[in-house]
Amino acid sequence: MQTTSEQTFPIYRVKVRWSEGWKEGQEQYPARPGSAPLPEGRYWNSCGWDRMEKDDCDPVAMADEIRREWWPNYSAKKLNKPDDLTIEVELKGRDTWCEGWFSHYTIDIGLSDREVLDSFERYVDRIQYNYDLTDSQRGGALMGAEDRWRWHGCADGNPQGERTPAPCRCPHCKKSGLVRIDH
Ligand SMILES: [Zn+2]
Repeated sequence: MQTTSEQTFPIYRVKVRWSEGWKEGQEQYPARPGSAPLPEGRYWNSCGWDRMEKDDCDPVAMADEIRREWWPNYSAKKLNKPDDLTIEVELKGRDTWCEGWFSHYTIDIGLSDREVLDSFERYVDRIQYNYDLTDSQRGGALMGAEDRWRWHGCADGNPQGERTPAPCRCPHCKKSGLVRIDH
């Protein structure tokens, strides 16, 4: 049984949407019903992620920051003539850990490795035994975190690179003020 209440942090849902041109040879899907019409040769694309912050943030300011600092690099590298960008940020809730891509992270408040691992174990258990979730919601939220042997860190901010024991204390995490567990 938990004897102390754990610190939670605000988690924001980021939703990014834009139009872009089909690339040559790219498989073309019909437009989603209800989406705004686009000129021929273009389609709507989107992505999104959750972001944990140490303190409450203004969602509008966060959307502006993503537009300024993330979008130019992302769109230049990956997309074919992107346009019609919208970025929405909304508060999703508060929790002890935030989901990434086969990874979870939280704010580094100076806990020891042992304390961080215990906290993550409680978080994983809470999701795993939450019977309000469907199997696929649970699977999407955990992304393999239920298997403790998968937990690891990395040496240089690249989870596909050299691995270290969990939790991750690499220079990238330190600089971001986070502690991460990849899985
Ligand atoms: Zn790291």
